[in-house]
Amino acid sequence: MIQNKPKILLIYTGGTIGMIENPETKGLQPFDFTHLIDNVPKLKMLDYDIRNIQFDPPIDSSNMSIEHWCDIAHAIEEGNDTFDGFVVLHGTDTMAFTASALSFMLENLQKPVIITGSQLPIGEVRTDGEENLITAIQIAAARNKSGEPMVQEVAILFENYLWRGNRSTKMSANNFNAFKSNNYPSLAKIGLDIQYHEESLFRTVTKRPLQVHYGMDPNVLFIDLFPGITESTLRHMLNTPNVKGIVLRTYGAGNAPTSAWFTDAISDALNRGIVIVNVTQCVNGAVDCSLYDTGNTLSRAGVISGHDITSEAAITKLMHLFGMGLPASSVKKYMEYSICGETTI
Ligand code: ASP
Repeated sequence: MIQNKPKILLIYTGGTIGMIENPETKGLQPFDFTHLIDNVPKLKMLDYDIRNIQFDPPIDSSNMSIEHWCDIAHAIEEGNDTFDGFVVLHGTDTMAFTASALSFMLENLQKPVIITGSQLPIGEVRTDGEENLITAIQIAAARNKSGEPMVQEVAILFENYLWRGNRSTKMSANNFNAFKSNNYPSLAKIGLDIQYHEESLFRTVTKRPLQVHYGMDPNVLFIDLFPGITESTLRHMLNTPNVKGIVLRTYGAGNAPTSAWFTDAISDALNRGIVIVNVTQCVNGAVDCSLYDTGNTLSRAGVISGHDITSEAAITKLMHLFGMGLPASSVKKYMEYSICGETTI
């Protein structure tokens, strides 16, 4: 039973939700938190103790960086003993990357970290921001029958659904339902009430104290396959200076060309100790290297299967594992293992 008002920390990073039109360029630009809060008078109807902190200046999430992720993680670490839950207001463009990164950085998280934003600025008449903000706060304050936080993981709340953060992808630049986790069920359905799917919610195996990992190694890369890719383009990318981990975005069930030049280039990179993870370009479904010869060749060469992980989760997981200072052999091991519900293994 909650004795006191739920205490929620709002972390405002920027994004469309708080943007206003630049009178000169007519483009949207981030604006301050007071403007945002003034546009949601209904917040006062929630009997919660809501505190806030904001990025100074707030940013368009296209400018999100590892330093910003560390700032968010630090605010959560500092407030972990004080607050019942956290709401992160964030632009939609890189929201799935931030949600994935935070899920790895916040080890043993047992409180809700609900990330939301909007497609229309909160000052617009038809904004989706007001509803998203209020629902995110309600989810951050929600308890289950045992009095524990209902959500104990990083999640994205957008319009009608709550999704696991490290399973989510931005699916639309226009729709209010902009996010989806294509390989994992929703954590809650938002309608007249909030229906939690308790069987889908993540729980840590042991209840250890929160441990924040600030090290995120930026020496990672996406390589997107396309018919016509040349050996020199591929080798150029594989030879990127300092690169330690690569997410190879393949076709279908994890398939790639079988030409000798292709497998030789991949093998050369693997022999130099680079970790390569096979992730499908399809938004739904998983890598299964046993299905076709074209996938088999990659796995025989030593490319790791990303199974059904999203590209966003795969790249941030590599950043996290290398950021922990792990050798390539351990990174490979953990890439095939679910740390916090990011893949179905
Ligand atoms: N460009 C914006 C951002 O990601 C888009 C949005 O918030 O929806 O910050």
